[in-house]
Amino acid sequence: TDISKIRNFSIIAHIDHGKSTLADRLIQRTGGLTEREMSAQVLDNMEIEKERGITIKAQTVRLEWKGHVLNLMDTPGHVDFAYEVSRSLAACEGALLVVDAAQGVEAQTLANVYQSIEHDHEIVPVINKIDLPAAEPEKVRAEIEDVIGLDASNAVLASAKSGIGIDEILDAIVERIPAPKGDADAPLKAMLVDSWYDPYLGVVILVRVMEGTLKRGQQIKFMQAGTTHLIDRVGCFRPKIEQLPDLGPGEIGFITAQIKEIAQARVGDTLTDAKRSAAEPLEGFKEVQPVVFCGLFPVDANDFEKLRESISKLRLNDASFSFEMETSAALGFGYRCGFLGLLHLEIIQERLTREYDLDLITTAPSVVYQIELTHGGGHIELHNPADMPDPNKIESIAEPWIEATIYVPDEYLGSILKLCQDRRGIQKNLTYVSGRAQATYELPLNEVVFDFYDRLKSISRGYASFDYHQIGYREGDLVKMSVLVNAEPVDALSMIVHRSTAESRGRGMCERLKDLIPRHLFKIPIQAAIGGKVIARETIAAMRKDVTAKCYGGDISRKRKLLDKQKEGKKRMREYGSVQIPQEAFIAALRMG
Ligand code: GDP
Ligand code: MG
Repeated sequence: TDISKIRNFSIIAHIDHGKSTLADRLIQRTGGLTEREMSAQVLDNMEIEKERGITIKAQTVRLEWKGHVLNLMDTPGHVDFAYEVSRSLAACEGALLVVDAAQGVEAQTLANVYQSIEHDHEIVPVINKIDLPAAEPEKVRAEIEDVIGLDASNAVLASAKSGIGIDEILDAIVERIPAPKGDADAPLKAMLVDSWYDPYLGVVILVRVMEGTLKRGQQIKFMQAGTTHLIDRVGCFRPKIEQLPDLGPGEIGFITAQIKEIAQARVGDTLTDAKRSAAEPLEGFKEVQPVVFCGLFPVDANDFEKLRESISKLRLNDASFSFEMETSAALGFGYRCGFLGLLHLEIIQERLTREYDLDLITTAPSVVYQIELTHGGGHIELHNPADMPDPNKIESIAEPWIEATIYVPDEYLGSILKLCQDRRGIQKNLTYVSGRAQATYELPLNEVVFDFYDRLKSISRGYASFDYHQIGYREGDLVKMSVLVNAEPVDALSMIVHRSTAESRGRGMCERLKDLIPRHLFKIPIQAAIGGKVIARETIAAMRKDVTAKCYGGDISRKRKLLDKQKEGKKRMREYGSVQIPQEAFIAALRMG
């Protein structure tokens, strides 16, 4: 392809502003798919992605418009996948900025657009959903100018749903977004943008060629990984897969090279010719590390083998989560897993439950703590609160902090600031633009991983948005809080907390457990403790001897139902010190209320 005829762009938007709908529309208009094939959203092809309305893996599609080749790069839509987003953006020269005409600019819009600006993108604003009665395109146009500082005088007014403004958007891409640059004769330099596992093709690698040419039959080298591979397929997606003889500079497409595991194909790596190598790899490569850890245990111990297989299968397609075997006195055999963030954790957990039909207990999510031991005892990275060393062997503990940007209508600001305060937040900045506040806070990651996002949404009736990045480790007065049910510690509920919040956390936890654990035939004490010291306590009163006594002997079918219900309940319970704890209690108890 003639490089001057190529346009590489991504679409940036806040969730639900219409990114996927617009992408589908562009594909349809340029002839990639028929109306019938359009019935399902094409780019969001994973079930969970569709339900949650987010893109988990980056995808790309090649469009043809008036003699030009337009490569549309779809980027993941969540903070957990920020690094993947940055690589996708680095593969493009421009972006469509989609803003909902009824909602206006939101936090995710801002975070994404600033990234896009950092990558020197030419940005084409698109005001979408102008068909809605509540649409206020002129207000949104002004907002794009005031809040983001972009010229929006030539923003395209569109409705991805009704097909308004689609040709104008395609023309704007050709006219306003610059063609890529690159020398076809230079040694090959291509960026690995994404990789995934396909059962027929093996590992498929999405690349953006910067310099030189990628060809079938070429021996290539991954400069970061240091491995060499023979390319056996080169092609693109329209969105259907199509093989091509080669990919020149500026082009985006895929290769396969008989790679068995995606762990070998890391996002951001540089592909070069094995015989005629580039001198330097491309900038910006980063090794992604999981930041949130939790244990996953089968409710039924017999399911361990199934869990092992399912996790291994999921891992084939997601090299960013880690897992290793873990045993717990109470929960038996399971896995300690690491994730890029809570959403990532929830996605994997949901897939295991849904696609692999597993009943799982998830232990309290934890971040990674850096611990210095006394008397030159060395340094440990703590991934699991259960492994916390004895407090008098600890010299210091440091925890990861983040910088969060929260964007919220003024009326909810007070309660949002209180929430941040309660979570040990340090306010860095507070600004107001057109009836909305933008607050920047430094927060300990461990105060955010539980339910911060849910709280934020419920306090603001869904209006607040939130975005964050990590800013490093800081020392803190952190202690391990254990939970004891009938005098037995429940590993899955132990967590590391700041001393100043330990008591209220402990009290909340005991109160919630009191409601979540059903009565037994005996009295059950529930305690939260730090070291040997009890900081909170509740007691569940004993139940009368016979449950069925409630039925006053009469109604036999009702009695049976009650017994069946008990039986069914049993399957999903764990036993601690002869106390049955329902599976739901584990997750529910962690919500801070
Ligand atoms: P994404 O999260 O940015 O990918 O958003 P989607 O494309 O999934 O769209 C979110 C919701 O907005 C869906 O229910 C779409 O049908 C709807 N939507 C998208 N574009 C338009 C539009 O132009 N007008 C209207 N009325 N609804 C739209
Ligand atoms: Mg989408």
